[in-house]
Amino acid sequence: HPKKRLGQHFLLDHNVLTSIAKACELNQNDYVVEIGAGIGALTGYLAQEAKGVLAIEVDPDLSEPLKEVLAGRDNVKTLFGDILKLNIERETKQAFSLAPEASYKVCGNLPYYITTPIIFHLLATAPSMCWAVLMVQREVAERMLAPPGTKDYGMLTVMVRYQAEVEMVRRVSPNCFRPRPEVDSAVIRVTPRRARPWAIRNEDVFKGLVKEAFQRRRKTIHNIVAEFFGVDKAEAAQKLGVLGVEPKRRPETLEIDEFGKIADAFSEQEAQ
Ligand code: SAM
Repeated sequence: HPKKRLGQHFLLDHNVLTSIAKACELNQNDYVVEIGAGIGALTGYLAQEAKGVLAIEVDPDLSEPLKEVLAGRDNVKTLFGDILKLNIERETKQAFSLAPEASYKVCGNLPYYITTPIIFHLLATAPSMCWAVLMVQREVAERMLAPPGTKDYGMLTVMVRYQAEVEMVRRVSPNCFRPRPEVDSAVIRVTPRRARPWAIRNEDVFKGLVKEAFQRRRKTIHNIVAEFFGVDKAEAAQKLGVLGVEPKRRPETLEIDEFGKIADAFSEQEAQ
């Protein structure tokens, strides 16, 4: 019996499974980590294309069925544990005896109750990951892809996209799963930025500013900056002007690099 509290919605659709594996762009030298292997619907497709698969699953009750499904696949290793408690980089390199500089790919039909924690966990603990191809709620995919000035553009958009590029691979109907989830789904590809187009010197300040900005969407960036950094209005306006940011703008119209520039400029001043 699938466990709802663990987000167990198993994929049945051959076309969807194929397109997920294809978006991973695996070749015979690749190692891939699968998040939430379930009963191995996707694992076989990955094993066919890659040199090795590390299939991670939290539910030990699935160990027997998974073993059965994967019988004869000698390039799959299983690891039972909570993905959020594992250091992905270390586990992957250990499992396949990879060199420190070796890269790998990540794939998974995610358990939706922890979609965003998993994405941030990957960005934090998988520095050599090439990319991650992930099934997520469509609404979460749309928030990650949203352009500035739209209602979906928010804290999640900025915090993911300053670290990674996000692409839509395809939309997926609830009918492709058993049991059927209550929400629409989408497959996305998340590619960490190797060289960031802007250098954020103080990430905590950046994060704090972005959070503040999206909690007060009705204020101007001018007011938000003055309050957040504790500077007077004239000074805030002058500095924003130097950065090329019109002080009257609403925070949700700011590009990610504009938040970055503001965080840097004002935190530098703090340090002086
Ligand atoms: N890959 C399978 C498929 O496509 O049919 C299963 C996908 S299902 C949406 C998500 C899987 O993630 C479930 O098997 C669930 O038990 C597992 N899972 C839930 N929480 C987890 C966690 N914290 N760490 C690892 N796996 C987890």
